[in-house]
Amino acid sequence: MSDPRQRVSPAPVAERARALEEALVAKEIVPEGFIDMVTARAEQELSPRNGARVVARAWVDVGYRARLLADGTAACAELGFHGPQGEYIVVLENTPTLHNVIVCTQCSCTAWPVLGLPPDWYKSPEYRARVVREPRALLREMGLDLPEGVTIRVWDTTAETRYMVLPLRPPGTEGWSEEQLAGIVTREAMIGVAKIDVS
Ligand code: FE
Repeated sequence: MSDPRQRVSPAPVAERARALEEALVAKEIVPEGFIDMVTARAEQELSPRNGARVVARAWVDVGYRARLLADGTAACAELGFHGPQGEYIVVLENTPTLHNVIVCTQCSCTAWPVLGLPPDWYKSPEYRARVVREPRALLREMGLDLPEGVTIRVWDTTAETRYMVLPLRPPGTEGWSEEQLAGIVTREAMIGVAKIDVS
């Protein structure tokens, strides 16, 4: 007699995923190869490297910066970054006296075309609760100690609006090329939990 729990234990994940895909294709809910296409797109195209290029361009081009702050979606699309979860991107400008930080208190939304998929800590209940209740203390614990004179503004993502922080350009980067600048912009800085330092 075999253990009844064995009989009902689920198949390995890959097998279940394949069965599910086959069923969806058979019912013509998704076209053949759809899952591979989406996976490849997520891995290759949805990356915080895209947002880093947007930030670097805004740092070197005042006209682009103005367009980015006026209409984030259109300015990101100018550089080729658009698509699902990026239909309405709002860019938040950090200044020496204002620091922006983003969260999705409901779940884990990010602006996929420029920030990529959300990191695990961003999805954690702890981050989502504490960044709203006590942003200064939480940011300090995450390594970002902001002076008391800096106002912290927390932005909660909605189903439609996706935010991206435009970090301050760090001192010591005068004369750097746009490409060099893009190389120092981190996903964390574009979420607002880190600043960019080159010292
Ligand atoms: Fe969400």
